[in-house]
Amino acid sequence: MKAAIFYGPHELKLEEVKRPEIDKQEILVKIKASAVCGTDVRIFEGKKTKGVRTPSIIGHELVGTIAEVGAEVQGFFVGERVGVMPVIPCGKCYYCLNGRENVCANRTAIGYEYDGGFAEYVRIPRTALASGNLVKIPDHVSFEQAVVTEPLACCLNGQRKANVKMGDVVVVIGGGPIGLMHVQLAKIAGARSVILSEPIDHRREKGLMAGADFVVNPVEESLEDLVLSLTDGLGADIVIMAIGVPGLVNSSANLLKKGGTLNLFAGFTKGDMSEIDPNLIHYNEITINGTSALTRADYHKSLSLIASGQINTEIITTKGYGLDDIQQAILDVKNGSSMKTVISQ
Ligand SMILES: [Zn+2]
Ligand SMILES: [Zn+2]
Repeated sequence: MKAAIFYGPHELKLEEVKRPEIDKQEILVKIKASAVCGTDVRIFEGKKTKGVRTPSIIGHELVGTIAEVGAEVQGFFVGERVGVMPVIPCGKCYYCLNGRENVCANRTAIGYEYDGGFAEYVRIPRTALASGNLVKIPDHVSFEQAVVTEPLACCLNGQRKANVKMGDVVVVIGGGPIGLMHVQLAKIAGARSVILSEPIDHRREKGLMAGADFVVNPVEESLEDLVLSLTDGLGADIVIMAIGVPGLVNSSANLLKKGGTLNLFAGFTKGDMSEIDPNLIHYNEITINGTSALTRADYHKSLSLIASGQINTEIITTKGYGLDDIQQAILDVKNGSSMKTVISQ
């Protein structure tokens, strides 16, 4: 089969490799669509290394059809359309037992410890099947829609951590695919106003299509002035950082009203530090928290939101890439010229 092999930073080569073999308790999936995540960009650039093997096949947002089913596997059949939940929790560690399977101490993931989605086929290991990581996709949902299920599920986790509620004023920093998913989810959650801050023109336009009530170019306008004018000088209830820029953490926290929550959704480059005014946290009683990955429940909820037509997946994806274009697909996400790039097969 064809696969993009990751050899190390900036070294991704399309090669002909052996199609994975499955045992009696595994499944082989023919990949129909895989999407490039911001994390894949960080892996490609050597900015994320945890769990990444070399050489290996990366890519953790993938959907396809079942090509082979091991003799002892029950409940799945050749030809069924499926989505793959990448994160496999151990189910036994402290975090799994305390409702935080997304940060499982022994977690493994497809696209990291197991080969992932930038290939023609992927092997679904038995631990993944045992944890319910293979999910059937409704017939009316296209592969290009369904491939957004995983990142949207991560955003659902983020919305829960940020505690977005009816009537809130929510600021989203960064109008990439993740930012636009947060805009849509905040509106579904009942936010009164959603403000998107994004310097790239076409992304601000898509932000409006995603349902943002206001879009701001932070290079030309004051985000703080707008937030204060919309909130009687109080500040926002929630700020979600959908971009991992350490220098923006303090100014983002400064947009909050007393008691507000800042969620650091996007990952940062390993080793990056950021300065923060501790009195902002102390006197204003704000909460700063983070989000990592997704739970299996988030994945199911995410797929049901997509299937019910409540999520506009068109505006958050750029289609038309093949496996041969993988390098370009990653670069187009990195430079912001595309939205989430989707490789169709
Ligand atoms: Zn991802
Ligand atoms: Zn665990």
